[in-house]
Amino acid sequence: MLSYDEARRKVIEVTSALKHERQHPPVTETLELARACGRVLAQPVIADRDYPPFDRSTRDGFAVRAQDAAAPGASLACVGESKAGTAFSGTVGSGECIEIMTGAAVPPGADAVVMVEFAQLAEGRATFERGAERGQNIVPRGREACAGQELLAAGARLGVTEMSLAAQVGQRNVNVFARPRVAVLSTGDELVEIAATPGPLQIRNSNGLALETLVTLGGGEAVSLGNAADELADLRRRLERGLQEADMLVITGGVSKGKYDLVEAVLAELGAEFFFDAVAIRPGQPAVFGRCAGKPVLGLPGNPISSMVTFELFAQPAMDILSGAQVQPLLMLRARLAQPVREKGKMTRFLPARVRQAGGGEAEVSVLPWQGSGDVVALSQANAFLVVPPEKSEWEAGEYAMVLLRRGFGGEWC
Ligand code: AMP
Ligand code: MG
Repeated sequence: MLSYDEARRKVIEVTSALKHERQHPPVTETLELARACGRVLAQPVIADRDYPPFDRSTRDGFAVRAQDAAAPGASLACVGESKAGTAFSGTVGSGECIEIMTGAAVPPGADAVVMVEFAQLAEGRATFERGAERGQNIVPRGREACAGQELLAAGARLGVTEMSLAAQVGQRNVNVFARPRVAVLSTGDELVEIAATPGPLQIRNSNGLALETLVTLGGGEAVSLGNAADELADLRRRLERGLQEADMLVITGGVSKGKYDLVEAVLAELGAEFFFDAVAIRPGQPAVFGRCAGKPVLGLPGNPISSMVTFELFAQPAMDILSGAQVQPLLMLRARLAQPVREKGKMTRFLPARVRQAGGGEAEVSVLPWQGSGDVVALSQANAFLVVPPEKSEWEAGEYAMVLLRRGFGGEWC
C-alpha cells in the first residue's frame, strides 16, 4: 500500500502526463483584474516602467547632500520642497536642502534624506541632530524592478499581493487559464438532499456540498453530478456525464470493499486504469485514483472527514495541475504536543487537532476528542490535523510533532 506521500506523487505524475497529452492548447480568458482573485495567470505580468519610477524618499524629512550633513549639528538653507506628485524643480546645491515628503522624488543634487524627527526648521534653515549617510531613506529608481522585467510568471495564482502588483503595473485586465471543471458525484442509497427530512436510517448528503466547496476554494469550477444510488446503471449514467462535462472526477463513497461499493467496478467498465486503490492513511484508506477517458478520477471514501482529508491530499494537487498552477505544498508545520498521544498502527493518522500559539510564540497542538471519520461535529472545532506517522505511535506531552493546517476551512488558525 502506498504512503500518502507516494500516492500524492503518483497523482501529480499521472495528472501532469494527462495534461501534457491533451491535444488542444489550454483555454484562457481575459478578465477584469478586480474579478480575477484566485485565478492563475496565463501570461506573465511585466513591469511597465522602472519601480520606483524615480529616486523615492521613504520618509518625511529633508533631502540633503550627504557630505554637507555628515556630522551631527549641520545647518543647511532650506530652498524648497518636494511632495508626492510634485517634484522640486531645481537642483539641491552645496549648503542647501529641501523639505521632502514620503513617496516624493529626491531632486538632483541630493543623495540622502534626514528624517523630520531629527531636524529643526527655523528661519529658512534646517539643523540636523544626526549625521546623514549617502543613500539613506532613498530607494533609487529601478531598485525594486526595471521596466520590462517579469514580475509574475505565467502559472502564478492571483492572491492579494499578486493583485496589488498587477494593479501597480496597470494591468486592468489579465489573461488567465480557464478553471478546471471538476465533477463531484456522491453515492449512497442512504443519502437524501440537504433540504429533505431524513428517515430514521437516512442521512443528508453533506459531502456533495463540502467537496463542491473545496473545488471552488481550490480554484476549480464544480459540476454537481448529484447523488447516485448504489446501483450500476445510475452510477454509470452519472459518471459518463461527468466524463463528458468535466476535466476531472471526484466521487465520494462506494470505494470500500463492501457489497454495495460499486464505483471501481463501474469505472473499470468505462475503461479506467487505476494507479492505487488504497493508501496507508486513516482516515482515508480506501481512496482510489485512476484515469478514465484521459481524465484524472479520484474515488474518495464516503465518511465526511475521510473525504475532506483525501481531497486535500490528492484532489487539490490534481486541480492545481489542471489549473496551470504550481502544486501547492501541504501546509505542514511542527508543533509541541499539549498532551501525550498513543496511536498504534501501520498507517499515517490524521487526527483532528487544534493548534494555538503557546508561550514564547511556539505552536502547540492538542488532539480533539472525536468519534472517528464521520464526526464532523468534532472537526468543526479543529484547525489542523495532527499527523502521526506509522513509525512513531507514542508521544509524550511536550514532544514535537507535525501538523497539517486545514486550508480554506474558515474559523481556522488563531
Ligand atoms: P461509504 O464510503 O460509501 O462506505 O460511506 C461511508 C460512510 O460515509 C457511511 O456511513 C455513509 O453513510 C457516509 N457517507 C457516504 N457518503 C456521504 C455523503 N455524501 N454525505 C455524508 N455522509 C456520507
Ligand atoms: Mg456508500
